[in-house]
Amino acid sequence: MTVLVVGGGITGLTTAYTLARSGIPTTLVEVSDRLGGKIRTESVDGFLVESGPDSFISYRPAALELARELGLGDAIIAPTNPRTVWIRARGRFVQMPEGMGLVLPTRLGPFISTDMFSPLEKLRISLDLIQPRDGRGGDVSVGAFLRRRLGGALVDRLAGPLLGGVYGTPIDELSLDAVVPQLREAERLHRSLLLASLASGRAVRVRGSGSPFVSLAGGMGQLTGALVGAITRSGGVEVRMKSKVVSLERHGGGFDVRLANGDLLRPEAVVLASPGPATAGLLETIAPAAASCVRAIAHGSTAVVSLAYRLDQFTTPPVGHGFLVAAGEPLVIDGCTISSLKWAGRAPDGSVLLRVFVGSHSPGALAGSDAEIVALVEHDLAQMAGVHGAPILARVARSIDQMPKYTVGHLERVAGANEALAGLPNLAIAGAAFRGVGVPDCIAQGRAAAARVSEALQGVGVR
Ligand SMILES: Cc1cc2nc3c(=O)[nH]c(=O)nc-3n(C[C@H](O)[C@H](O)[C@H](O)COP(=O)(O)OP(=O)(O)OC[C@H]3O[C@@H](n4cnc5c(N)ncnc54)[C@H](O)[C@@H]3O)c2cc1C
Repeated sequence: MTVLVVGGGITGLTTAYTLARSGIPTTLVEVSDRLGGKIRTESVDGFLVESGPDSFISYRPAALELARELGLGDAIIAPTNPRTVWIRARGRFVQMPEGMGLVLPTRLGPFISTDMFSPLEKLRISLDLIQPRDGRGGDVSVGAFLRRRLGGALVDRLAGPLLGGVYGTPIDELSLDAVVPQLREAERLHRSLLLASLASGRAVRVRGSGSPFVSLAGGMGQLTGALVGAITRSGGVEVRMKSKVVSLERHGGGFDVRLANGDLLRPEAVVLASPGPATAGLLETIAPAAASCVRAIAHGSTAVVSLAYRLDQFTTPPVGHGFLVAAGEPLVIDGCTISSLKWAGRAPDGSVLLRVFVGSHSPGALAGSDAEIVALVEHDLAQMAGVHGAPILARVARSIDQMPKYTVGHLERVAGANEALAGLPNLAIAGAAFRGVGVPDCIAQGRAAAARVSEALQGVGVR
């Protein structure tokens, strides 16, 4: 073995795959009994249940490119139509205006006619058109930035649920520079965020792009499965499952890596693709300054509750791809994807598969048993969506203290960690805690980590 990769999630798998393709002998160590990390797809009684991600964005190309490279081009699927999404705010469902970008409208008509905002609130939003730029630099929260330009209603009812759902962090804590730097750039270039968003919408329509999200016919597990297949076929990667890396020390130009079972591994380079808290622990002895930067990246918790029902258990048949819940609603649910309507082939005919998120609005709920969490979600669904009777399938998947929070100052913490590791080019850190939580960003980081240690190995003439 030349390189040791810690963690068999999408980041570590991509790293190992990339190293194997370069012919570098690699060992991948994974603490659990399965590969894929947060990506987990299960087929149960005709339902395709995703416990982690269910899709990825296509405009950051790393995931799409990797899927094609692995021969999955034909399996890439787009969401079905219509792509209606609802927002639950002030006790009722309101349809999200069509043509919403990440947080701003890309089409004027649907935004003018939406009843999500009162005329006065729309007036406040439109003040963005005449507001001057704010030339101040330095990271701020996405919430503070948007509130200044567009007012509180848009933040609380639209941008907050949209971004908070993806990042598991309240919008007033979320880092503008780390999460949506394009908003600051839009202000710099166009002054008005609305004008910038409408212009980008026109450009997208000219290009004829559809939804920015895609998935795989067999679920996201198809991607990790294909990676594992390619790694196995390469013959260049030893995979050690149920093996926990517990310490990392320098040994000559390389490393001493201790596993929980007492085994000692002596790689020439190491890639830490474990979640932030585990990575911080492993850096403690070898690079304490990097460890403290990584430890300063907070991690939160979430649970995905997958519930299946017969269609006749709904008072009115569900419509659209799902809903997001604004902060302050008396509900446990943060949001819900109607997987069987959003993607083809996720549930047998006559049934509905829901994927419900819990943890941001009611973190206390995550302390309950699976049955208690399911009961809370059932109660919410009965109240607001008229769903009655017990689900025909229920699964709870928790990620406790594993969800990185990109709060204000995130990029400085990441830069601090990387600076502290500058003298150790044969040690790389990668994964959701650092430069993007989405699957494409994790893949890009896995590739970059492989490139960094390959270069370092070449530099010392090892290869
Ligand atoms: C519920 C949920 C929904 C999501 N939805 C989306 C989505 O729709 N689209 C999207 O793009 N992204 C989504 N994400 C984010 C994305 O799935 C993750 O950011 C990404 O999968 C993380 O990959 P990773 O390899 O960095 O980390 P992980 O998947 O966490 O993998 C890290 C691995 O390291 C192992 N490990 C930890 N410590 C050790 C140790 N000491 N020794 C050995 N192994 C160790 C762990 O067991 C794990 O397998 C979602 C995430 C969650 C949780």
